[in-house]
Amino acid sequence: MKTGKYDAVIVGGGISGLMAAIDLTRKGRRVAVVSKGDPICCLSTGCIDILKGVDSPRDGICDLPENHPYHLVGAGGLDRAAGLFVSVMKEAGLSYVGNVGQNRWILSPGGTRKQTALVPESMAHGNVEENETLVVIIFKGMKDFFPGYVTAKFQNADVYEFDPGNGSTLGIATKFDDPAFQEDFFKWFKSQKISKGKIALPAVLGTKPQVFGELAQKLDRKIFEIPTLPPSIPGLRMFKALKTCLQDAGADLYWGRSVESVEKDGDAIEAVTLAGIGRSTRIEARAFILATGSFVSGGLYARQDGVVKESVFDLPAYVPENRESWFGHNFFETGHGIEKAGIRVNGSFQPESTGIPNLFVCGSILAFSETMKYGCGHGMAIATGVTAAEKCEDHLA
Ligand SMILES: Cc1cc2nc3c(=O)[nH]c(=O)nc-3n(C[C@H](O)[C@H](O)[C@H](O)COP(=O)(O)OP(=O)(O)OC[C@H]3O[C@@H](n4cnc5c(N)ncnc54)[C@H](O)[C@@H]3O)c2cc1C
Repeated sequence: MKTGKYDAVIVGGGISGLMAAIDLTRKGRRVAVVSKGDPICCLSTGCIDILKGVDSPRDGICDLPENHPYHLVGAGGLDRAAGLFVSVMKEAGLSYVGNVGQNRWILSPGGTRKQTALVPESMAHGNVEENETLVVIIFKGMKDFFPGYVTAKFQNADVYEFDPGNGSTLGIATKFDDPAFQEDFFKWFKSQKISKGKIALPAVLGTKPQVFGELAQKLDRKIFEIPTLPPSIPGLRMFKALKTCLQDAGADLYWGRSVESVEKDGDAIEAVTLAGIGRSTRIEARAFILATGSFVSGGLYARQDGVVKESVFDLPAYVPENRESWFGHNFFETGHGIEKAGIRVNGSFQPESTGIPNLFVCGSILAFSETMKYGCGHGMAIATGVTAAEKCEDHLA
């Protein structure tokens, strides 16, 4: 059996776990991340939704129900976490714009406007008004983008079509990484005598962060990406940047591995063993952070008898008692009772009523987070990830 020894092990490689790990490595801690698979942020727009339905997410978190995890973070914690995220992205060449004190609007693939807080630079000009003149560039054969939704809302939109020779979102984005393909696109663009207005394209301008800046400079027009359906290239860019940042900081990543068993010394967690082909791996740490996400990623699962279980440490999970209240009648409405399910934590992000002194919890597995209802997916994940890491650091110091 292989072994490893760390200050902290983070179980779950989503945006919350990766941000927790980055915070700890920057404090000089030896860190490992264990993740069964790629996280939800790969499917996302890459935008950081902090809290919807308010002008200022930073002010708005005060009005959330008192058991919402944002109250354990506070406005100061939110500022620190967002600041760390933006600086990590910038170092990776992926600039973000916006701030936690002011929501903004961007154009969604459905032609409607989506409220969010921090957006990749490639979406900075996506705050369009309905009467604005818009040029939409589409790609021949691309199946995951429907320009009709945009033109239905924008009467002053012209559509131009470029043939990339490949119809898949990832295929086109990969082609844009190639300078020769960029040049072909640029020549085509010039030949079209494209009319006035901001240029909007589905988000396929390269898998690498620098491609957007290079193209924007060449085209010399206000240009922005419209997020597409999953798989989403801006979400993948963000995920790659976080992962690379951790690898560069010397953290060990056990990817495609899940926890098989947990060892305890009294109440404390001492080590986890990871399942592997042939040999398993035992990793010891002074502290552990649980960031395995909610039902979608397998951090939680619901049994037929109405009991919700946490999948790694078998922690007690909260779920509304009345099974009938788990789902409302309208599937597309948010606020289903089941969204409240998760792990309840104390002010130090430690699981309540367990007595485990060296385990911290963050991200969408936290009880009462209701990320769909409050539109707080990545914001809550980043804020609780960094705050849980701070509490973990207090424990390690
Ligand atoms: C389709 C979709 C689009 C979204 N778009 C946006 C958006 O545009 N903006 C926004 O702000 N929010 C968005 N959200 C919400 C947001 O993406 C999530 O709330 C957030 O990414 C959750 O992050 P997390 O780190 O808590 O968990 P997750 O991303 O779920 O990560 C958990 C990780 O833990 C791993 N894991 C699970 N079990 C184990 C185990 N036993 N051992 C080891 N590893 C394990 C999983 O493989 C996974 O990698 C979207 C959600 C969805 C579903």
